Amino acid sequence: MNIILLGPPGAGKGTQARHLVEKKNMIQLSTGDMLREAKNSGSEMGNLVAEVMARGDLVTDEIVIGLIKEKISGEKGGGFIFDGFPRTLNQADALGKLLEECGENLDFVVEMKVDDDALVSRITGRSSCGNCGEVFHDITNPWPASGKCPKCFGTKVVRRADDNEDSLRKRLMEYYKKTSSLIGYYYAKGDHVSVNGLASVEEVQKSIAAVLDR
Ligand code: AMP
Repeated sequence: MNIILLGPPGAGKGTQARHLVEKKNMIQLSTGDMLREAKNSGSEMGNLVAEVMARGDLVTDEIVIGLIKEKISGEKGGGFIFDGFPRTLNQADALGKLLEECGENLDFVVEMKVDDDALVSRITGRSSCGNCGEVFHDITNPWPASGKCPKCFGTKVVRRADDNEDSLRKRLMEYYKKTSSLIGYYYAKGDHVSVNGLASVEEVQKSIAAVLDR
């Protein structure tokens, strides 16, 4: 089973993807995580994308398609969860071709529907465990007073450089200009389903599980 989680920044794609990795042995392919890794490693490509990401702009199709191509030719596990990819029509076409070349299908494109006002507060209060990636929120789910992640007991909390209001507005604009047309693209292909991304994490997990059980 291969799925795309589609939605604006802060919709909860990463949180839901991690849950599917744990429960269904799927493989999360987050281009955002791959790019952050490249940036932190100080590679040539990482240095190239650092500024683009900090501004909230999209990295070139060529770079992200290259990253995905490298990953999907390897281990498949219980299937792939594409998280934050594709973000343009060109990336969507490229993904279709890459999957076909590997003899794979796209089973569902799950759109996580959220309201823009909620995104600003979700993103600006967001942090995560530097070890396992568990997501926290200053108000709704704060980093424990014990200083330890409840999942992995890691002690380092991190905030993304682009999780600020200015960058979020840019990322939202990029989403509406370049990514949201993918909803219609996948609807026309017959792969699109939507879930209410404003519900609790557990409710969204249940809605996605119901889609995957279809
Ligand atoms: P994310 O972690 O998915 O929110 O991505 C963080 C940033 O990485 C984005 O704001 C973009 O700058 C870049 N990025 C991630 N995925 C893509 C993609 N598929 N296409 C272009 N840029 C991307």
